Amino acid sequence: MKILKTTKELIDYRKSLTCSIGFIPTMGALHQGHISLIRKSIEENDSSIVSIFVNPTQFLVKEDFSKYPNRYEADLRICKLIGIDALFIPNIDEIYFANEPNIVAPMRQSYMLEGYQRPKHFDGVLRVILKLLNLTKPTKSYFGKKDAQQLFLIQNMVKTLFLETAIVPCEIIRDENGLALSSRNIYLNEKEKIKALNLSKSLKVASREIMSGELHVEKIKKRMREVLKNLDVEYVEIIDRKFCKIEKIDLKNSIILVAVKIGKIRLIDNMWI
Ligand code: AMP
Repeated sequence: MKILKTTKELIDYRKSLTCSIGFIPTMGALHQGHISLIRKSIEENDSSIVSIFVNPTQFLVKEDFSKYPNRYEADLRICKLIGIDALFIPNIDEIYFANEPNIVAPMRQSYMLEGYQRPKHFDGVLRVILKLLNLTKPTKSYFGKKDAQQLFLIQNMVKTLFLETAIVPCEIIRDENGLALSSRNIYLNEKEKIKALNLSKSLKVASREIMSGELHVEKIKKRMREVLKNLDVEYVEIIDRKFCKIEKIDLKNSIILVAVKIGKIRLIDNMWI
């Protein structure tokens, strides 16, 4: 496995390849969610590149970017064991410059839900993903459905800026109790982990309601809020897959999303229906 630390090393490496490239951008502290994306890429491409870069521009001032989990040694071992071809781990000054044009995510979809809670977060996400896609020029790029709004905005950017990569959405990976895996879960103590199970439980309750014929968004949200009543809920929302508000669920075209705060930790989860 090649370890690439500079953009020049990455570009030289990418130019040396004549085969299909799969790309998996991450912020490290790798878990089975990331691993599922990496495995899919290895299956579908001749060469797979993983990046680990904790992107400062997607953190709000009040969010502590420096406290994001760092598991470099473990991540390195995981990448070697899975058998990726190259790992890109740049420093911040490899990626960002003093004066650079900025990319601004579309207003409506980036200032609702996650973007309402974290203004300008998606500007930072798109800014770094655009740079990484331009550097790696992957045939296919792998993103988790866990970050549904991020996935939507990246798909929109790829389409509208005519980027030549196919975005592959990947299923949400959960632990044995249903908790969606996240690098931030390591900050949850045992009590908080039990509380956190209410996220996936609320989604299950919603899906049971839908299976029994209930399609009214407000009624389903009310049932979900009952499950989440002891939590600090940031949002419970049901929207269509273009992130537009709906009153009634359109099957196979909707997403149920939930975000809560447990102590200082934000957790998100969703279900595509
Ligand atoms: P992150 O390191 O949090 O930026 O995530 C890197 C990629 O892994 C993103 O595309 C995420 O959506 C994806 N991802 C994170 N957690 C999961 C999960 N539990 N299941 C599937 N994909 C995930």
